[in-house]
Amino acid sequence: MLIARVIAEPAGLSPQLDALLEALSDHGPADAREIDGGVIEIAAEGVDVAVLRMVIDTHLGKTDALIAPHRPQLPRLFISDMDSTMISAECIDELADFAGLKPQIAAITERAMQGELDFREALRERVALLKGLSQDAIAQCLAERIAPMKGARILVQTLKAKGCRSVLVTGGFHQFADPVAEQLGFERVVGNRLEVADGVLTGGLVGPISDSATKKATLVEELEALGEKAHVLATGDGANDIPMIEAAHYGVAFEAKPKARAAANGWVDRGDLTSVLRLLGVAEKDWVLD
Ligand SMILES: [Mg+2]
Repeated sequence: MLIARVIAEPAGLSPQLDALLEALSDHGPADAREIDGGVIEIAAEGVDVAVLRMVIDTHLGKTDALIAPHRPQLPRLFISDMDSTMISAECIDELADFAGLKPQIAAITERAMQGELDFREALRERVALLKGLSQDAIAQCLAERIAPMKGARILVQTLKAKGCRSVLVTGGFHQFADPVAEQLGFERVVGNRLEVADGVLTGGLVGPISDSATKKATLVEELEALGEKAHVLATGDGANDIPMIEAAHYGVAFEAKPKARAAANGWVDRGDLTSVLRLLGVAEKDWVLD
């Protein structure tokens, strides 16, 4: 038995939903009901996540959804990617703009996030291109280009109020992630650190590289500290988020690249990050808005 919670347009029980239930009935018993906040809860037997996702995509179009083998519970751990998930930009692309290199660097970033390039190699290559850029550009870039994704702070703060620990894990840089984490309320940051000497970027990194394996390892380490019964929510958009998304109980692909979306059991394609709260069953009246 799988439970899918779905936010769709048009809201409510509709002809599309009847067609969806008809398609699911080829596999086993299925039913649907509307729960709080315009969320439809579908219960289906005889299907796996991939089939259920396909049926939802086919019949309901663009949706936000979460599929689980049980009614979703509140997570004790929230672990998230930063670039294009918690903030709307890719930091390295924006930084590259200050060096006059955005087209070259953004093309590599896009291919890396699609899973077409080795992440570590692509990272080193792009960081090397930034050699000589003044570190003042980082502060300017942060101030001018980096803004939280809509709903990001509400998501983190509301989960926190519900007793959930939040960790930001990024293939991007501490120089960006630390202030973003502070602003949104993440309790820990794992990321890469741009090396700076005499006020300019050296083109290198300091310390170990944070990549897809690091993201998953951080999840595993944090979960061990909380105890195995804790449920984990993960959000990300890129290929380097896949192992983390797969390891989470609720792995949500946020406006994600196709490979990441296919690896997830949840997705947000139409709303903002507060959809994750709706899908977890946290009603709007319980959101922390400050
Ligand atoms: Mg990302």
